[in-house]
Amino acid sequence: MEKPPILLLAPLPDFLMEPLLAANVCHDYFRAADKEALLAEVGSQIRGIAMSGGSVAPVALLERLPALEIISVFGVGYDGAPVDWCREHGVRVTNTPDVLTDDVADTAVALVLMTSRNLAMANRFLHAGSWTQGPFPLAHALRGKLAGIVGLGRIGKAIAQRLEAHGMRIAYHGRSRQAVAWDFFESLADMAREADFLIAACPGGAATKHLINREVLEALGAEGTLINIARGSVVDETALVAALQAGVIRGAGLDVFENEPQIPTELMECRHAVLLPHIGSATHETRRAMAGLVVENLAAHFAGRPLPTAVC
Ligand code: NAP
Repeated sequence: MEKPPILLLAPLPDFLMEPLLAANVCHDYFRAADKEALLAEVGSQIRGIAMSGGSVAPVALLERLPALEIISVFGVGYDGAPVDWCREHGVRVTNTPDVLTDDVADTAVALVLMTSRNLAMANRFLHAGSWTQGPFPLAHALRGKLAGIVGLGRIGKAIAQRLEAHGMRIAYHGRSRQAVAWDFFESLADMAREADFLIAACPGGAATKHLINREVLEALGAEGTLINIARGSVVDETALVAALQAGVIRGAGLDVFENEPQIPTELMECRHAVLLPHIGSATHETRRAMAGLVVENLAAHFAGRPLPTAVC
């Protein structure tokens, strides 16, 4: 079989590029100096796209790929792919669920611990030599506190299980009640009012844009902490900075940002914000497993086999 031509919309790691290059003819749209020239040359032949969870496949681009059959996303979040358009146009979309769940849940728990116990600050305190002048201020315990999870999916459930092991109580908010023992809140603001930690683990995209806004942050309140490992778009970052600056909430632990990797200076300067550079799934083991799914989905599609992890 002739190797199918595919377009790359993001920089991808070597351990993904090697098998992609072996099985496909790869055209690097992301790095192309003249994207128009690339499209004019190969646009009509492109049968597949490989992209990262954080990259975007605009409809305007897809409309110029008449032979497009499949988009394989290197990530579980596929908010960068226009799924409704793909469904309408018979373009399949795949993602990389499950293999990253544990790592992302671990990252959320790390942010809960870092914010509750001020661990990043404690580390800086010691390195600055401040310990010799006195002890580090007391922090807050997790036992008995309520974690309100926004989006109780694969990752949300894994976070809940971990935090239960820390003695926390669990509640969740989503579009529907699930068959679990944890308390369901139909209203996000009501859950935020009860919660000590509000943890975003839902998908990004238009449906959840700024779901966590000023009203929700005010409900979370001065003893509450926001954790976001979902997508930057889920939180109104301007409202979050204002809430942190004014002490409307106690703190925030963030792995994702609205305009990453650009972080507003005002957010960088917030003492009670622990900020991570979108590393939720960033381990050798998990990223290799994700790469395997990207390759397998493309290979299955081009061989006419069922897709291992199809979104649509
Ligand atoms: P999942 O299993 O599909 O879970 C998503 C959950 O969100 C579902 O339980 C869903 O429940 C809920 N949800 C959907 N729309 C919602 C809405 N409008 N309001 C509230 N809840 C809503 O997905 P997953 O595998 O757990 O991944 C979740 C997200 O984590 C991904 O989409 C991605 O954006 C993010 N993520 C981040 C990283 C990172 O590196 N930080 C890594 C991987 C994933 P209902 O259907 O009942 O609403």
